[in-house]
Amino acid sequence: MSKVAIVTGGTRGIGAAISKALKDAGYTVAANYAGNDDAAAKFTEETGIKTFKWSVADYDGCVEGIAKVEAELGPVDILVNNAGITRDAPFHKMTREQWQQVMDTNLSGVFNMTHPIWPGMRERKFGRVINISSINGQKGQFGQVNYSAAKAGDIGFTKALAQEGARAGVTVNVICPGYIATEMVMAVPEKVRESIISTIPVGRLGEPEDIARCVVFLASDEAGFITGSTITANGGQYLT
Ligand code: NDP
Repeated sequence: MSKVAIVTGGTRGIGAAISKALKDAGYTVAANYAGNDDAAAKFTEETGIKTFKWSVADYDGCVEGIAKVEAELGPVDILVNNAGITRDAPFHKMTREQWQQVMDTNLSGVFNMTHPIWPGMRERKFGRVINISSINGQKGQFGQVNYSAAKAGDIGFTKALAQEGARAGVTVNVICPGYIATEMVMAVPEKVRESIISTIPVGRLGEPEDIARCVVFLASDEAGFITGSTITANGGQYLT
């Protein structure tokens, strides 16, 4: 039987590429999403991957959603915490709602998904938790105090939990993508995009598949000695 993977936010952008790459690598994939039913339906039509709707910001919703996935597909071996949002504003204009929404999805969402899945991974003596943080969680970004704080939190979460999972055969790692050519980034004016690209030593934006390939490697049996790691995939834009 093939291993089962959940990808949160797995129907669009980077998450969609991760879902597809895991499927191509032989995993049974459940792609979670929050609200965009049309994108999810189109994704299933194109890929044959099953989608499941709940918000990672809601703990009880995660417990229910994970139970549904496990009933249909089997116990979860691979968890990719990819769902993320931005609510940008300079700090002096940032509202408590903007702060809280980003914390609830980008940081608590990682807790809400990992906590119910963790005991099963420990019992079965195998698991892979792969978190998607950001270059901006490493270096900070103007207008993104909320996002940078949550994404930096994901890195701390990873390093601490990796220590708890190691003896049980569960690895926990985090990937920090740089600027990736998703709808969000492609929507910025071409001039701004050109100026971003000029700061990336490899001279291009990343592709969602650049991140998906890192996930497939971290999910594999061959990556069992790698835990607590931060994989930086940013074309050389920020060197840690
Ligand atoms: P997109 O906006 O293209 O897609 C986001 C996905 O997350 C969608 O499937 C969306 O579902 C889902 N989602 C949002 N909120 C929730 C929620 N509360 N519960 C469940 N699913 C949710 O994002 P990207 O592909 O650009 O980004 C993916 C991850 O990579 C994010 O964590 C982001 O912070 C990170 N990242 C992105 C970079 C980039 O350049 N694009 C750079 C660095 C990091 P729905 O379709 O229903 O809205």
